[in-house]
Amino acid sequence: MRFHIITIFPEFFTAPLSYGVTGRAIDKGLIKVQAHNLRDYTTDKHRTTDDSPYGGGSGMVMKVEPVARAVSAIKVLDSKDKTGKSRSRVILTTPQGVPFTQALARELSALDEVIIICGRYEGVDERIRDLVDMEVSIGDYILTGGEIPGLVLIDSVSRLIQGVLGSADSKEDDSFSNGLLEYPQYTRPPEFNGSIVPEVLLSGDHAAIKRYRKKESIRRTLQKRPELMEKASITPQDYEIIAELKKEKK
Ligand code: SAM
Repeated sequence: MRFHIITIFPEFFTAPLSYGVTGRAIDKGLIKVQAHNLRDYTTDKHRTTDDSPYGGGSGMVMKVEPVARAVSAIKVLDSKDKTGKSRSRVILTTPQGVPFTQALARELSALDEVIIICGRYEGVDERIRDLVDMEVSIGDYILTGGEIPGLVLIDSVSRLIQGVLGSADSKEDDSFSNGLLEYPQYTRPPEFNGSIVPEVLLSGDHAAIKRYRKKESIRRTLQKRPELMEKASITPQDYEIIAELKKEKK
């Protein structure tokens, strides 16, 4: 899978992507990340990428032409899925976009190419919206630029690509993957400051461990993020666990 980033700070991405899972995925050729300097797509001698807003007001606005030129220069893959839909997406990072979720990360991980536009200042000229497939927000807060959202997208999408994580299981139990939060995890020592590891985890009884984890996963989702339960896929066994948890509460 290829990620293209359009940014005025291409160097921003070098260090964060060279460590751990993403670093190894790049080394193995499972993902390719290319940061494109927006200034290379300007035509004036000062390589201008922003200008003052029409109508006045504070701050600067990113000009549409350099971004448009960058998008059309980069979008080279044109593969389609079975339904004839393009396997490339042009994404504008913006706090006004659709919330980025694990489900969206999974959807993007099935593509061949993702082009990420990183805004700065007051954002990009409104007319860029006609050239993008999707606007994505990483949360209801304002960052200074789209580079961190770009990294968030690349990191979370990459780990869902076949072969990027060591064990296939390690991502299936992750929080949000099945709609629930993940169960609590423990490692050595078995006792710390008087707090002990639940006995079942030391029992070697795989069926009991599986049930314990499911129960704790449901327990913490109900406690910490009850609204997630509405969309989670609940099995008949899960309903039994929910009833058990309700009884325990009483
Ligand atoms: N004036 C814009 C607004 O109120 O919607 C915010 C511009 S913000 C200071 C500059 C850039 O940072 C945006 O163009 C976008 O690329 C990025 N950005 C900031 N917060 C973001 C968020 N929560 N999600 C995604 N991108 C964000």
